[in-house]
Amino acid sequence: MPFSSAGQTRNFNPYFAFRTLAISSPTIIPRAEHNISRANISEAALKTLYRLKDAGFEAYLVGGGVRDLLLGREPKDFDVATNAHPEEVKDLFRNCILVGRRFRLAHVRYGREVIEVATFRAPHDAIDDADDAGRVDEDKGRILRDNVWGDLESDAWRRDFTVNALYYNVADFSVVDYTGGMADLRRGELHLIGDDAEQRYREDPVRMLRAVRFAAKLGFRIADASESKLFELGRLLDDIPPARLYDEVLKLFLAGHALSTYELLRHYGLFGYLFPQTEDSLTKEHDGFPITFVAKALHNTDVRVRSDQSVTPFFLYAALLWEPYQEELAACIEDGMDPYEARFAAFEAVIRAQQEITSVPRRFTQPVREIWDLQSRFDQRSGKRPLRLVSHPRFRAAYDFLLLRGEAGEALAELCSWWTDFIGMDEAQREMSVPKEDGDKRRRRRRPRRRNDSADGPADGGE
Ligand code: ATP
Ligand code: MG
Repeated sequence: MPFSSAGQTRNFNPYFAFRTLAISSPTIIPRAEHNISRANISEAALKTLYRLKDAGFEAYLVGGGVRDLLLGREPKDFDVATNAHPEEVKDLFRNCILVGRRFRLAHVRYGREVIEVATFRAPHDAIDDADDAGRVDEDKGRILRDNVWGDLESDAWRRDFTVNALYYNVADFSVVDYTGGMADLRRGELHLIGDDAEQRYREDPVRMLRAVRFAAKLGFRIADASESKLFELGRLLDDIPPARLYDEVLKLFLAGHALSTYELLRHYGLFGYLFPQTEDSLTKEHDGFPITFVAKALHNTDVRVRSDQSVTPFFLYAALLWEPYQEELAACIEDGMDPYEARFAAFEAVIRAQQEITSVPRRFTQPVREIWDLQSRFDQRSGKRPLRLVSHPRFRAAYDFLLLRGEAGEALAELCSWWTDFIGMDEAQREMSVPKEDGDKRRRRRRPRRRNDSADGPADGGE
């Protein structure tokens, strides 16, 4: 594509070098030379852009929306950047709330769609730290707050990857490129902005997870230093609050590229910082079984996402933590607990350890427990028990989970096909199809024993 270039490169940041002179100039790609059409931008995003512009503010589409449109993909959401301050944005939109402490921005809501409107940020070293003590973690360089306003140019340089720092200007429909993002898009490369990858990861270690996520989603190569530091800096993720890591885990594994994301995370040694218990069980000798299980589960999730079937965080967590749970369960039983007690204790131990790293909302922990508990009930195929199991609210998820275990190599073929047949039947057929003996035995056992019964010896050995 015939883009005119002002010749700047991502590794030479003229903004920082000549900030006082402000001579850095962007490449402007006019409407005729790029493929972003308003027809592909959501109505909500366009309304937001125009309302800001009509009020006299600058307004740009930025981030994944611009990146994905340029790649001919459908954007997941639209982000807007403006010189209006959050309170000014709030005054312009009735349907607007201000969110975030670390990174304050406005959410403008249109039905189910939310447009994130962020005010241009200043670079991190542009302010006197005495004015804003506590903004950066002195030891580790992590940015704890990022609420100092700047202009379009400073906003571009503080973003994470060059391909995420392209701006679509609603005033003339051009694309503004300060960091060389357009060329990287064409090459299919992810470059951290600036010349010090380590510093950029230290400022915000979640950028490491974002690098992997975009590489998997876009099929891009992570370039040079941006890549090599991934192998070294994983431990920085230990300082990220569990709630933020939980949000990131959902983006990593529920967006349709879970399997390739997982493979990359393992390749860079990052997966263990998100799921240390799973990583432990993966690295043990298991005849390859657990590796297959997690990979199958993630592949399945991808297939579901791509065919518009629902995916849930609890199924994902149930799958990712299944192997550690199995190990904990075996240990509890070895310690002499009865099966019920052991299942509960193992669940508690595994979930609690995970919560410390990536919080899991309470409403999702109970379904994880149910999926795991129900696995032990699939063997009971006589009397009323299969009928009761099918009507359990978590049956479908538990059944999918059972199939997954079968696909991953557990010897469950016969059991899986029995249940598949069973749920394909109507109620009357189900009643007919289950063997009765077990139920009969139970009934016999419950009948009060008459004195002369004892002459026949014990009724049965009991359970
Ligand atoms: P997605 O397709 O997942 O929405 P995205 O690039 O839009 O991808 P968002 O999390 O929506 O990702 O963020 C919007 C933009 O904000 C990014 O493209 C990037 O420019 C900037 N950004 C987000 N997170 C960071 C970060 N941790 N550090 C620097 N810039 C960031
Ligand atoms: Mg986005």
